[in-house]
Amino acid sequence: MPSLRLANLIDGRLQAPRQDRWLDVFEPATGKVFAHCPDSDADDVAAAVAAAQRAASAWAATSTEQRAHLLHRLADLIEARVDEFAALESRDSGKLLSLARSLDIPRAVSNLRYFAAAVVPWSSESHAMELGAINYTLRQPLGVVGCISPWNLPLYLFTWKIAPALAAGNAVVAKPSEITPCTAALLGELSIEAGFPAGVLNIVQGHGPIVGQAIVEHPGIKAVSFTGSTRTGAQIATAAAPHFKKLSLELGGKNPAIVFADTELSEANLDTIVRSGFANQGEICLCGSRLLVQRAIYDSFRERYLARVRALRVGDPLDTSSDLGALVSQPHFDKVMACIAQARDEGGQVLCGGKAITLPGAHAGGWYVAPTVIEGLAPDAVTNQQEIFGPVVSLIPFEDEAEALAIANGTGYGLAASLWTTNLARAHRFGAQLDFGIVWINCWLLRDLRTPFGGTKQSGLGREGGVEALRFFTEPKNICIRY
Ligand code: NDP
Repeated sequence: MPSLRLANLIDGRLQAPRQDRWLDVFEPATGKVFAHCPDSDADDVAAAVAAAQRAASAWAATSTEQRAHLLHRLADLIEARVDEFAALESRDSGKLLSLARSLDIPRAVSNLRYFAAAVVPWSSESHAMELGAINYTLRQPLGVVGCISPWNLPLYLFTWKIAPALAAGNAVVAKPSEITPCTAALLGELSIEAGFPAGVLNIVQGHGPIVGQAIVEHPGIKAVSFTGSTRTGAQIATAAAPHFKKLSLELGGKNPAIVFADTELSEANLDTIVRSGFANQGEICLCGSRLLVQRAIYDSFRERYLARVRALRVGDPLDTSSDLGALVSQPHFDKVMACIAQARDEGGQVLCGGKAITLPGAHAGGWYVAPTVIEGLAPDAVTNQQEIFGPVVSLIPFEDEAEALAIANGTGYGLAASLWTTNLARAHRFGAQLDFGIVWINCWLLRDLRTPFGGTKQSGLGREGGVEALRFFTEPKNICIRY
């Protein structure tokens, strides 16, 4: 099969990068190149920003209904090709096709539809003053904004950013990860068919430190919404500071799942606890990588948990019997393997997994890692502090609520926690004390797009979702009129 050649979308046209340089895009399931994406540079970004600036005023002047109509139209076009999108996402990222089909692509469609619907009734606040005046607040688009997304949920997170930005009336310059550029490129093509005016949505592909950095530093870009690692988030904050740009930073996590002895350990709940560690090969920022279990049930829980993890099948992402696919890239595979080696060096006992897996035939070059469970590490061990972002879970026993809370909150991250208990008072008390942006009780990854999403501490700055995202992508202006 000939390899795919992706394009940038600039000024309503699909374009090659100005320097005609291209990057290899690998298929994680086989380790082979299957596509090429533009290796763009700051000149391509400048062209995209110029196009966005030309389009911004007219776009800001459209009605919310018109913008919503175009977002729905784009959602329709993606939905009509959902199988193609899912296959491309799976091939590009190594994730299970079944997951791309059931989660990633439907959620991308929902993101577009949600913000299309949310922006229409979103109104400015007004206050009648007793002094004979009305104070009201306009929420005006910022102009041109930047959206930078990671590789783990490519189209899901790409649309999570561009949808509210466009709905709020901004022109967008967006960059997907160069590791997984394909579905954003296809969305770009469909945005032309949907009828978005030229320059309203621009997609520039390429390296983060070149294209991403150029987006962050361009003075024409008023705000940047970024999802990715804490390290890159800090670089972006530094680069954006001299420009006083608005930033939304959704960063890494070291999430705890906390299982109290009173938890109802039904088969379904155990399955969810396993899934919360290993879904998408652990490459979801919300996966729980520290599994805290109360000592009273530690031994029995561990046996039931391990039996389930050992039964997980690592295999071809297209095979419906696979539970885990491939890790996204060779460097990421190397990083996860190095983290497992470090866990051993720190004195951790590998209870299952702990090794790479070589599949037969065409998949022999793919990047597969066995689901790994480790125990015996202190809460402050590096393995329990640093984000691994792979199929690795560390088991940590605890005695009581106070100890569980100290361990759970005892990292630099604060993205998400899941809490398992049937004690209602504890659920409220403990949930409120967890220093995380998101707390799930007796569930995991149940998301409602109306709710705020984001983390505390090194997990980020600001919130996305619901009106929070619309607020981020607009500038409030207070006007007071006397009558
Ligand atoms: P990175 O930080 O490496 O990259 C994220 C995006 O930023 C990519 O598009 C990347 O481009 C780009 N980028 C890299 N360097 C720069 C730079 N100097 N300036 C501007 N942009 C840059 O993260 P990963 O792609 O490795 O994603 C995994 C990380 O994302 C994990 O830490 C995970 O926890 C986090 N994440 C957080 C989520 C949240 O909601 N809090 C959700 C999902 C993931 P390129 O890839 O082309 O280099």
